[in-house]
Amino acid sequence: MSTPDRDPQHLDSQLRWILDRVQQASDLLGHPIVLTEGLRSDDRQAELYALGRTVVSHVGVTRTRSMGLTVTNAMAGQSRHRPNAEGFGEALDFHFAEGEPWGEDQPWELIGILFETLGCEWGGRWVRWGHGKGDRPHVQLHKRQTPTLVA
Ligand SMILES: [Zn+2]
Repeated sequence: MSTPDRDPQHLDSQLRWILDRVQQASDLLGHPIVLTEGLRSDDRQAELYALGRTVVSHVGVTRTRSMGLTVTNAMAGQSRHRPNAEGFGEALDFHFAEGEPWGEDQPWELIGILFETLGCEWGGRWVRWGHGKGDRPHVQLHKRQTPTLVA
């Protein structure tokens, strides 16, 4: 199993800037957060996708079947953790530095809103995941939009 990349330098510069601001705010609020994973290779994404799933082969057709406890729903190539065109990650995962890292009583929504305010999508809104709780440790940049020039 490969290890997670925790180097913020491997994140897209916009996301790195946002993480920096949110970490400053979370420190001041007394709920410091830690980057647990940023950039993720396609090989590692495929490893994570395979966790909790078995591969079933039928006459040359390979399917994956969820075996219950899965880690990610994104196959290799789909996740925003994977390198973008410039080689940087556009998603990150965090947890809390004090208390239970993924504890229920941690202020997930507070941190999620901080990221959202600075222009990110927060996985805690994806309530079809995680038994209604979404993917709370996950944050990603919004898809890039082409700037519109107004004359
Ligand atoms: Zn993630």
